[in-house]
Formats: sequence, C-alpha cells, structure tokens
Amino acid sequence: MGSDCLFCRIVAGEIPATVVRETPRTLAFRDIAPKAPVHVLVIPKEHYADVATLAEGDPALAGEVLATAAAVAEDEGLLGDGFRLMFNTGAYGGQEVFHVHGHLFGGAPLGPMLA
Ligand code: 5GP
Repeated sequence: MGSDCLFCRIVAGEIPATVVRETPRTLAFRDIAPKAPVHVLVIPKEHYADVATLAEGDPALAGEVLATAAAVAEDEGLLGDGFRLMFNTGAYGGQEVFHVHGHLFGGAPLGPMLA
C-alpha cells in the first residue's frame, strides 16, 4: 500500500508514533486521541485493509497481532482488571483507517460499548 496509507507510513517511520512494542511483523503504538487511560493500536506491518482480509490472507499474522496485543496488555498492567480488544471493520463498524488495527483499551471500567 505505502504512501497512501497512514499506518503504512507509521510503519515506515515517515509519521511519528509512540511505539510501545514492536515485533518483526507487528507494531503497537498509542492512539493519537485516546478514548481510555490506555488506548493502544496494534497492527501488522504488512498492509491488510481490515481484520477479515487479514484473517483470510494470513491467519498466522492475525495470531501475531493478537499475541502482541496480549503482551501490551501485560506490559500496561491490564491483565488483572481486564481490557477490551476491538477491530472496527468497514462502514457500519466505524472504521476510518483502512489498515487493520486492533484497539486495545484499558485502565478503567469501559462500560458496555466504546466507539
Ligand atoms: P478506526 O476508527 O479506523 O477504528 O480508528 C482509527 C484510529 O486511529 C482512531 O482511534 C484515531 O484516533 C487513530 N489515529 C488517526 N490518526 C492517527 C495518527 O496519526 N497517529 C496515531 N497514533 N493514531 C491515529
């Protein structure tokens, strides 16, 4: 994808981000407009538009994204009280950036929904 994709540009180091964890194939960085005390975005470095496309195209990489999210949850001290991992997908899902990303929320009670 590359220069048209915001998160590909973060992966490339062209746009700054506060990275909290990096693996050879995944990246986790803080959301620029956090909606919870902890709000981290977890992505595959390779471009997939959404979680359905990722799961279909590279299930092992989808698993790596989940593992990175779980490791960040542990680093951020979220395992005891719990957290939310959410993938907005498509128009009805409210997805705005079309490079798949899991939202990791935590650090406070989140209620039944979080946009
Ligand atoms: P979506 O609505 O696509 O699920 O979520 C996109 C997320 O990306 C939003 O929570 C938004 O705050 C975040 N975001 C948008 N632009 C940037 C950016 O340049 N840097 C970071 N770190 N987050 C961003």
